[in-house]
Amino acid sequence: MFGDHPHEECGVFGIYARGEDVARLTFFGLYALQHRGQESAGIAVSDGKTVNAHKGMGLVAQVFDEQALAPLQGHIAIGHTRYSTTGSSQIANAQPYNMESYLGPIALAHNGNLTNASQLRDQVLRRGVGLTSTSDSEVATMVLLGGEGPDWADRIEHFVSCAEGAYCLTILTKDALYAVRDPLGLRPLCIGRLGEQGWVVASESCALATIGAEWVRDVEPGEALMIDDEGPRTIVRQPAPRSALCLFEYIYFARPDSMLQQQLIHSVRMELGRELAREAHVAADVVMGVPDSATPAAIGYAQESGIPYTEGLIKNRYIGRTFIQPDDRLRQQGVKLKFNPLTSTLAGKRVVLVDDSIVRGNTSGPIVKLLREAGAAEVHVRVSSPPIQHPCFMGVDMATYPELIAHRMTVPEIEKYIQADSLAYLSYAGLLRATGRDPNSFCGACFTGNYPIPQFDPRERDEIKLAFAAR
Ligand code: AMP
Repeated sequence: MFGDHPHEECGVFGIYARGEDVARLTFFGLYALQHRGQESAGIAVSDGKTVNAHKGMGLVAQVFDEQALAPLQGHIAIGHTRYSTTGSSQIANAQPYNMESYLGPIALAHNGNLTNASQLRDQVLRRGVGLTSTSDSEVATMVLLGGEGPDWADRIEHFVSCAEGAYCLTILTKDALYAVRDPLGLRPLCIGRLGEQGWVVASESCALATIGAEWVRDVEPGEALMIDDEGPRTIVRQPAPRSALCLFEYIYFARPDSMLQQQLIHSVRMELGRELAREAHVAADVVMGVPDSATPAAIGYAQESGIPYTEGLIKNRYIGRTFIQPDDRLRQQGVKLKFNPLTSTLAGKRVVLVDDSIVRGNTSGPIVKLLREAGAAEVHVRVSSPPIQHPCFMGVDMATYPELIAHRMTVPEIEKYIQADSLAYLSYAGLLRATGRDPNSFCGACFTGNYPIPQFDPRERDEIKLAFAAR
């Protein structure tokens, strides 16, 4: 079952900078990547002789204080912030993993999901290697350590040749930093410059900006970099015939102030909204977005349609996934715990409510109801992505068919279910147009069912077979 292999949308970070407080800079980098994972956080540092690490459960600011940062002295650091489904939330899965190897101490941080994790796991266990956690990332570490060859470049090359699926790795050894991106480039990874001699890698460029580093470029799909006193150099290049960057990064996951393929995510999201307005116009008085993730698309929709943009919901910024589980009475309050409507901008209005995606379908209905209670005359839901009909095995938390509302229901059925006056989604062609990039350079499997991994058939996966058997 999938629960045994927690999938991981995470944030990774790495820095090589002599003369800087690399642990503190990593802390701030992870803070900027907090949206990619709120379950655990960790930092490993090397001073050229020894590797020290600290990790724990919770948000970056909960895991680290001055006392935790103080022993983390050195000039190389990596960091990780982890997200996973509940049930696998345990300290054994927290990263970076650090251990002794034949080539000396190593620490590793991994973002993504290996689609052949079960096979790799079997291979590792068959070799007699014990595993302490249920995480793909530990398997990844063991595959890396178990590779042949005299140096890390060989081992990374071996890892890249046997791992399938999505991964970005930052690896720290005693005297170098490595960054690896999978051959399809499913998850983002970029490199930046800090001052004259420092180098930084991060899942998203927002983490570079936060610490004053300058974005240089994306790490290429299938590229592994080594960074030391001589700067960064490519040590492995093994791209797939095509790249397959996750479209959901553009839609929801990445921060709007991050750059992907030299485009600001915020600009792409505005364009998604403009496309949506062209495809699914409706007569209305105001356009609003579900904060915060749908705000840029709502602005784009308003610009294109000429309908004024307004704020209609205020979100409590401090409610995250680590929010204390509410009791039953509070749970019934549902979205009201998270959002309050602005009655004065909604009363008597025909509202276009833009959301970035509908995944399980638990959020839209209560928000529509909330807006009606606040006096909205009509609520027209517009979604700035196509219906999500297929699960993701490459790291986004939507792992099974039954949980996806657009798999179980048609658009008119969903419209009825969420009690909207109308519902329309952006088309897949519209989504691709909005990116302005080669349509064959993305993974859109959650919309199309076309998975980019060679020889990967999702119907062969046990959890899918079970899901279909249960229907
Ligand atoms: P729901 O349809 O109830 O699952 O909620 C979907 C909303 O949650 C979207 O509008 C996103 O803002 C956010 N979201 C996006 N992706 C996910 C995900 N993988 N898991 C949970 N929530 C997500």
